[in-house]
Amino acid sequence: MAGHTVVDRKPAVSADARMETFHARLKERGLKSTGQRDDIARVFFELPHHISAEELYAEVKKVNPHVGYATIYRTLRLLKECALLYERHFDEGQARYEAVGERHHDHFICEQCGRIIEFENVAIERIQNVIARDLGVTLTRHKMELYGTCPDCKSRRGL
Ligand SMILES: [Zn+2]
Ligand SMILES: [Zn+2]
Repeated sequence: MAGHTVVDRKPAVSADARMETFHARLKERGLKSTGQRDDIARVFFELPHHISAEELYAEVKKVNPHVGYATIYRTLRLLKECALLYERHFDEGQARYEAVGERHHDHFICEQCGRIIEFENVAIERIQNVIARDLGVTLTRHKMELYGTCPDCKSRRGL
C-alpha cells in the first residue's frame, strides 16, 4: 500500500486568487483592506501550511516590521471569519493555521521536532466510506492524525 500514500501536495489555489477572495469578503463585511492586513494575509497564503501565530509573526516582520502581534491575531481571526483559514490543534499543542480550499489530506505529526507531514491515501479514504456504510451514517468530515518520529529525527537518533 506504500505506493498509495501521496505526500507531495502542491497548493490548490494561488496566493493571488486567495487575496482576491479575501478582498471580496472584506467588502461584503463593509471592511476596507489595510496595508498591514494585506501584508499578513499574503504572507499567510504564501507560506507552507500549519503555521502558528508566532511563526507567522516572525515571517510578517520580514516584510513589514511595523506589524504588531495583536494585529496578527486579529487578522487570523478575520481570515477565519471570512472562511479562509482552518484552525487546527494537534495533540493539544498551540493553534496552527492552514488555508481553506486545499484538497483533503491527513496529517503525521513528529513528536520529537513537531514537523507535520501531509499525506493522502486512497485506501484510507475508501475504508472510511466502508465504515460509514456499515454504520449507516453519512460522513461530513474526518480528522486523521498519526503521531511518531519523522525520518530526520529517526536518523539523528540512530533509529
Ligand atoms: Zn522530527
Ligand atoms: Zn494540513
